[in-house]
Amino acid sequence: YHAKLERDRISTYATEYDINTVERLQLLADLHAALDAGQLRVVYQPQFDLADRSVVAVEALLRWDHPDRGAVAPDDFVPLAENSGLIFPLTAYVLDAALAQEARWRQAGHDVRIAVNLSARHLSDLALSGQVSAALDRHAVPASSLVLEVTETGILSDPARADVVIKAVRALGVAIAIDDYGTGNASLSYLKRLEIDELKVDRSFVSNISSDDHDLIIVRSTIDLALALGLRVVAEGIEDAETEEALRALGRVIGQGHHLGHPVEAQEIDALLASERAPARLPTER
Ligand code: C2E
Ligand code: MG
Ligand code: MG
Ligand code: MG
Repeated sequence: YHAKLERDRISTYATEYDINTVERLQLLADLHAALDAGQLRVVYQPQFDLADRSVVAVEALLRWDHPDRGAVAPDDFVPLAENSGLIFPLTAYVLDAALAQEARWRQAGHDVRIAVNLSARHLSDLALSGQVSAALDRHAVPASSLVLEVTETGILSDPARADVVIKAVRALGVAIAIDDYGTGNASLSYLKRLEIDELKVDRSFVSNISSDDHDLIIVRSTIDLALALGLRVVAEGIEDAETEEALRALGRVIGQGHHLGHPVEAQEIDALLASERAPARLPTER
């Protein structure tokens, strides 16, 4: 342990992703307090049916406004929370906030799904489906409106267990999406065996399809495969109009990315959904 501390301390390649142990422990302690201190909030990124640019779903993304450090990125604190078990109350918080918001959108007559990220650890938690079911009941949101995003890593850490947990959640009517698809080690046999509903093609493949032939080939065949298997396909990381155009030509795809809409406060999604209701007042595309 001391050797590791020393290694970390003298590490010369320390980056924001490789902070030393002491700092990590401090950040973790701060994160424990953050939930009660109201420093955590949820933002929402829209997903569009590229065929008609309508909003079909919204992904809930966690934000931490640290009093001293300012905004801490989820990629920096979610792994800490996963290692410490704090991920369980964090996910419960996000699920609750997202479903409360989804209930409001539904009451306003908007039919959009809500997507919530799970961490790998939830896929070995046999209590997950019960908690999801209770949260849906609490907010009177139908299971079919919820998508839970999981990663290949999460599935592969204990495939048999993940299978059981995923089946239990799907039995409620909740959809399961494989997030960041293509970056993990999931083989095609998992796609065949696993009961999933949606594939989210990772942005590292999507972002450059209009300029990189290899990326285009990979994304095209992934979309073909997923659609042929009857899965919904979401392309992440659409950062420009050319990428959106290229994707539209590849089939019935849902798009997410900065070109289409950044993660924003719930009220901004309200405005976006309201503008869809009044096409005469739709702003012209930029
Ligand atoms: P993710 O689930 O794959 O979420 C998509 C990430 O890509 C988000 O980063 C989003 O802001 C970003 N993004 C969206 N469109 C674009 C684009 O066009 N270009 C680029 N460069 N990025 C784009 P964010 O919010 O920083 O979250 C990062 C990761 O942290 C998420 O990846 C997810 O794995 C994790 N995360 C976020 N919120 C939660 C949560 O509530 N629970 C758990 N367990 N993990 C979360
Ligand atoms: Mg996600
Ligand atoms: Mg993703
Ligand atoms: Mg990601």
